[in-house]
Amino acid sequence: MGLELFTNITPQSIVVFGIGILGFIIGSLVYSRDISRIDNLSFFLFAWCFSMWAMLLGAFESIAPGNLEYVSLMILYIFTALIPVTVLFFIMSLTTGSKIILTKTKIFSISVSFIVVLYIILTPNFLFKNIINSSSTKEIIFGNGLILFTLYLLMYTLTDLFLLFKKYRRSAGIFKTEMLYIFLSVFIGAVFVLLANIIFPYLDIYNLFWFGPLVGIFIIGIIGFLIIKYNFWNLKLAATDFFTSIISLVLLFELFSSNSILDFTIKTTILVLVLLSGVLLVRSVRYEIENREEAEKLVKQLAEVNDDLHILNEQKSEFVVTASRHLRGPLMDINKYTSMILDESFGSINDKAKEAIDRILQSSKRLVVIIEDFMSISKIESGKIDYKFSRTNLKEMIEELIEEMSITAKQNGLEIKLKVKKDDDFISNVDSGKIRQVISNLIDNAIKYTPGGFVNVSLVKNKNGKIIIKVSDTGIGMSELTLKKIFHQFSRAKEASKFHTGGSGLGLYIAREMLKRHDGRIWAESAGHGKGSTFCVELNDEN
Ligand code: ADP
Repeated sequence: MGLELFTNITPQSIVVFGIGILGFIIGSLVYSRDISRIDNLSFFLFAWCFSMWAMLLGAFESIAPGNLEYVSLMILYIFTALIPVTVLFFIMSLTTGSKIILTKTKIFSISVSFIVVLYIILTPNFLFKNIINSSSTKEIIFGNGLILFTLYLLMYTLTDLFLLFKKYRRSAGIFKTEMLYIFLSVFIGAVFVLLANIIFPYLDIYNLFWFGPLVGIFIIGIIGFLIIKYNFWNLKLAATDFFTSIISLVLLFELFSSNSILDFTIKTTILVLVLLSGVLLVRSVRYEIENREEAEKLVKQLAEVNDDLHILNEQKSEFVVTASRHLRGPLMDINKYTSMILDESFGSINDKAKEAIDRILQSSKRLVVIIEDFMSISKIESGKIDYKFSRTNLKEMIEELIEEMSITAKQNGLEIKLKVKKDDDFISNVDSGKIRQVISNLIDNAIKYTPGGFVNVSLVKNKNGKIIIKVSDTGIGMSELTLKKIFHQFSRAKEASKFHTGGSGLGLYIAREMLKRHDGRIWAESAGHGKGSTFCVELNDEN
């Protein structure tokens, strides 16, 4: 058995079989688009019958002469008889969408006609008298049953067309156009299928058996396209359905080749098991698809929420910038007047008052820095920060900065040293205001977090020709964990907070963001807690 079963495999029979597969795929695609719709289901049934018919036709054409040849011919004709019934269901479901209204008369007529046609097909020597195998094709010698069978097909085809025409006349708009296309498709399809599979064989033309399926698949394709439009979503479900059906079909064929009761029982058990696992598989795939659709929906909702959050975030950034601006003005006034009082511009003051006013000045200066950090971060987030790049002498900038900050350093008992080769020039294309802010934050941190010792600033060029600015200190240092976090927003080490309460945890984050826009880098190194820290900034050399 097995391979000897199909001895006449021709290119035409393969094509016809392939067309059957295609019909099944199209039907499944339409159905899986929305399995709750009855019109999708009835179209699927129609496509499935067509697909079975085409595959059986392909198989019949290639099958070896013998008993199975007759069996497959009978099953082929049962499916031929089923096609117009499924078309009828499809047409009936077209306008109703959610359900098919089946009156008792309709059920009765459909059942009776089907029983009659089954009788016509299964009665020996009535529809088929003989099958003659020629070298290229099979000749079916029909009996008197053919007239009845053709009448059955004609009756259904005419009913289908009549119903479609009625629906076409009653509908309007896009639906009317869709109806017209479906009407034309069914009409042309019916004519060709009847011609190729009933009329031609009747006229002893047998080698055109592939003609019907070919036209049929176009029809299925067009109707499927009309329903599905652009939906290719559930290909996986279609494929699973399809392969389960194919395996079951092959096993069903195998049943006929059983040569003992035991063989038959084993094959039946296998078939039942395959069917059961197939159903489970299809269910699980469908479940997966439903989940995926649910996930898609959630992703969409999430995207919408994300958009809303973006807008809110922008509003927050704008609010922070405006609020900070309003706070900074009065603070600048406080700074200005406390400095003037300290300089004794309004008359002399005693030492105690001087000390108190100096504290006020230092605190309000810190507040200005924090407010400026808030402004910078909001501008960075909303992408509104402007950069004005120009060739800048970094050596001069750092020398100036050190001179300014040495006063505060001295007050803290520290000395800032600059290490740089005298003849080297350090020119880079930067926004000098921003880079000044970055370096001054690093030196400021070094002073803040160093209780005693020194602060070193060095300027070198590395092997790759980049400029490296290093700020190192002998201060509290950082643990490995701290090192990982310090460039994040609002990130402050516990030790740092104990040591210096006034920080915002924003300076290094801002520095990193600003350096990104300069195609530069910033990183930190420390041997551990209490062992000092080194911060490095890398910038391009434009010399
Ligand atoms: P702030 O100094 O306002 O807290 P920064 O973003 O400038 O914010 O610094 C973040 C954290 O990095 C600090 O809170 C501190 O824990 C750590 N840090 C920065 N510079 C040093 C330094 N020179 N030595 C030790 N720790 C430092």
